[in-house]
Amino acid sequence: MAGSRTFSIIKPDATARNLTGAINKVIEDGGLRIVAQRRIKMTNEQAEGFYAVHKDRPFFGELVEFMTSAPVVVQVLEGENAVLRYRDIMGATNPAEAADGTIRKLFAKTIGENSAHGSDSDENAEIEIAQFFSAEDIVG
Ligand code: ADP
Ligand code: MG
Repeated sequence: MAGSRTFSIIKPDATARNLTGAINKVIEDGGLRIVAQRRIKMTNEQAEGFYAVHKDRPFFGELVEFMTSAPVVVQVLEGENAVLRYRDIMGATNPAEAADGTIRKLFAKTIGENSAHGSDSDENAEIEIAQFFSAEDIVG
């Protein structure tokens, strides 16, 4: 493997606006390789499980409703320091605070409908990848 891996989701606000290719271009221009990718409609169970760490936050219900509102594209990204690299490429959670050229600055609508998810640690990347991909789905 060249470097490490992270897990990414192109969120419903982005797929609804036909931005999958535009976001993939930012990812690839940023130096990461898309080594697995699938378009799915998340179930309530999948979204609740994926975001279980946020279940006591006031926005949890809204977040699950949003993530199941339209298709998402789940991805595995590979490269040097993939987790941190992708957090940089995505930009801050709130698009108003995101740096120029980042996915969230370019495309996000709000702090909730913010176009992309990226893992926050190597440990969580491994857990999140395993929720959506098996080893043979990932071709580096
Ligand atoms: P990140 O996605 O940058 O890691 P968090 O893990 O803090 O951010 O939050 C997970 C997701 O929950 C965010 O990407 C966003 O979609 C949603 N979210 C976070 N904070 C809020 C908020 N204050 N209001 C509504 N949705 C939020
Ligand atoms: Mg997070």
